[in-house]
Amino acid sequence: MSQDTVACDKPLPALDGLSGQFYGWCRQGELRFQRCTGCGAFRHVPREMCPHCNSMEWEWARSSGRGTVYTWTVVERALHPAFVNATPIAPVVVEMEEGVRLLSTLVDCAPADLAIGMPVEVVFEAVTPEVTLPRFRRAAR
Ligand SMILES: [Zn+2]
Repeated sequence: MSQDTVACDKPLPALDGLSGQFYGWCRQGELRFQRCTGCGAFRHVPREMCPHCNSMEWEWARSSGRGTVYTWTVVERALHPAFVNATPIAPVVVEMEEGVRLLSTLVDCAPADLAIGMPVEVVFEAVTPEVTLPRFRRAAR
């Protein structure tokens, strides 16, 4: 499996609205999440209202880029034609230090080597000139 060679033929995220802003930061090599300026809570996926205090006021706050593997699954059989040559693939939910969770994949870890609580850090992969995806690699700790 080569995760680096499969990216461009995959479905890509929508780049409009708040999602577009999130991926715009990624394109600049920065992982940022919305942080409520009312109560300070981070949130992801991007949305207008804070789920904790209902405030509509927020900012894009830079993440440390560090987190741990919260959970994952191993996809053995592709459910989309673009992933036929990418299996097995392990979509991973990373719990960031800020408390939000992000669905991604690891660039340097076979599915059999994944472990809950494994420290990871973000890396950025430009899959098209317009789209850069946040992915993760193992981190020392
Ligand atoms: Zn809030």
